[in-house]
Amino acid sequence: MSLVTSAEHGESVPGVAEHVIRLRNWLGEHDAELEPYRRRSANGEIAQDVEHDRGLMSMLHDAGWGRWGWPVGAGGLGGPAILRAVLYDELAGAGIEIPEAYVMMETLASLLVEYAPQIAAVHLPAFLQGREIWCQGFSEPEAGSDLAQLRTRARPEGDGFRLSGQKVWTTLGQFSQYAAVLARTGDAASAHRGLTMIWVDLRSPGVTVRAIEASNGRAEFAEMFFDEVDIPPSGVIGQVGGGWAAAMYLLQFERGMYAWLRQAVLHRRLREAARLVAGRGTKPGPAAEQALGRAIQATAMLRARSRRTVHRLSDGENPGPEISIDKALLGIAEQATFDALRLLDWDGMALSDAGGSTTQREEWFYSRATTIFGGAIDVQRDIVAERVLMLPRTR
Ligand SMILES: Cc1cc2nc3c(=O)[nH]c(=O)nc-3n(C[C@H](O)[C@H](O)[C@H](O)COP(=O)(O)OP(=O)(O)OC[C@H]3O[C@@H](n4cnc5c(N)ncnc54)[C@H](O)[C@@H]3O)c2cc1C
Repeated sequence: MSLVTSAEHGESVPGVAEHVIRLRNWLGEHDAELEPYRRRSANGEIAQDVEHDRGLMSMLHDAGWGRWGWPVGAGGLGGPAILRAVLYDELAGAGIEIPEAYVMMETLASLLVEYAPQIAAVHLPAFLQGREIWCQGFSEPEAGSDLAQLRTRARPEGDGFRLSGQKVWTTLGQFSQYAAVLARTGDAASAHRGLTMIWVDLRSPGVTVRAIEASNGRAEFAEMFFDEVDIPPSGVIGQVGGGWAAAMYLLQFERGMYAWLRQAVLHRRLREAARLVAGRGTKPGPAAEQALGRAIQATAMLRARSRRTVHRLSDGENPGPEISIDKALLGIAEQATFDALRLLDWDGMALSDAGGSTTQREEWFYSRATTIFGGAIDVQRDIVAERVLMLPRTR
């Protein structure tokens, strides 16, 4: 177990095993205060859930747990990214719902720390405290899997840019104060070479954000419209024209750390399902048993794979196209888990409107999206075939 000293704070950075023990102790000691966070907000509306999560984020920040694994210069306490992975695993292990905004933090904060430390220094402390939320504006109506076709344009204006265009499927967009937007700064034919990542204050004149309701009934994402929005020079994340490299960097964390965070949640759900079955005292039937077995297998596979990836990311290694394996395994494990839960509690999920059943139903619907967002599974499989296994291209 290594103990590294954080130069700026003079605090010792714990090794993983020590961090786990200390965090578990703290979670145990604060069991009563953490009780409200074992479930979402009382009425299950996403706006209330977002507010509810702020309380937990603030508590974790103030106790330090939400700050480990982020640089001191950006409001963290230092130490490697694996300390964040420990937090997600231990929260889920203690039966606590991981704040939805942590997904966006994993995705965007890693990008800012690497490509725009001046933005990270200002905004990450606010995010860690639960005061700010950000979103990721990549997808457009005509550009999802094929992001290089995006049309949102940032044209030079003075020292900065003017941003115009539309983004869609922006997770937590309507609750966010800032967005990382991928925009075209090159000419129309510049494909992935002419893109720039831009930090946009969503309260700027010319920005309109509209919520979109998903099939699970939750309005968790939005569409964003930009009409000649002023972007100061300090809003460029990385280099002008370097947006593709920034997006690829970010995707490592979106696909890697996110998969780890979710495996922790899936294991929790499966443990709870196993307890439910044991408590009934009757066998669930062969279809449900098989589905549960498949889910446990898929989630164990995801955890094993993801563990390695988290270590690589934490060591500063870039997994490259191999990260598509994690993303594909995640989609498979998500759907296997919620399919199994549906079979184990068919009546509750299909017929009941009680709080727990509504959440279960929403989670089942959401699991259908896990093979789409962050890169559709068909595309991930193509990447694995062509760029990891080096099989011949068929197109
Ligand atoms: C719940 C959810 C949250 C999201 N959050 C965000 C967000 O916060 N920010 C953001 O920018 N975007 C977000 N997205 C959008 C997401 O990134 C896109 O949906 C995704 O990239 C796929 O793009 P698309 O929807 O345009 O589908 P398309 O790219 O049109 O794909 C449609 C189908 O064609 C298949 N396909 C496409 N190209 C190929 C190919 N080359 N080879 C094989 N098959 C192919 C796909 O697999 C898919 O089945 C979110 C989506 C969902 C569902």
